[in-house]
Amino acid sequence: MIIYDLTCDNGHRFEGWFRSAEDFDSQCQGHLVGCPQCDSHDVRRVPSAVAIASHRDADAGTAAIPMPDGTTALVPAGTQVMALYRQLVRAVMEHSEDVGTAFAEEARRIHYNEAPERPIRGQATADECEELRDEGIALLHLPAIKDEDLN
Ligand SMILES: [Zn+2]
Repeated sequence: MIIYDLTCDNGHRFEGWFRSAEDFDSQCQGHLVGCPQCDSHDVRRVPSAVAIASHRDADAGTAAIPMPDGTTALVPAGTQVMALYRQLVRAVMEHSEDVGTAFAEEARRIHYNEAPERPIRGQATADECEELRDEGIALLHLPAIKDEDLN
């Protein structure tokens, strides 16, 4: 799974999840990628910020960290920033309930007050993330981090 930072012709920044670079190219050429804010299909990649979410070992030297402004920071492992990031991941893991692959369903139940409000974490597909966003449910993507990196 690849996360691309994208921008539309109106300058909105957003994230797109794709199976591969080829998947992005074909969706983009077919005008299937739309801006969530203005629905423009004139979308292009922001070249400097690319994060590979599920490739745990391929790029162990860097961590891709989502920033509040919608960009992604690539941080060299072993730096102070990386240490802070590990603290954040640990805090998220300690203070959230792991609902695994039921994440989308549970996030929706909380959003519609069908389940008690609490922090949850888990896995969701790109389609599920998109649907949740469409329903106004805020998500934070954390790149996968190896257990041994947490210590
Ligand atoms: Zn837009």
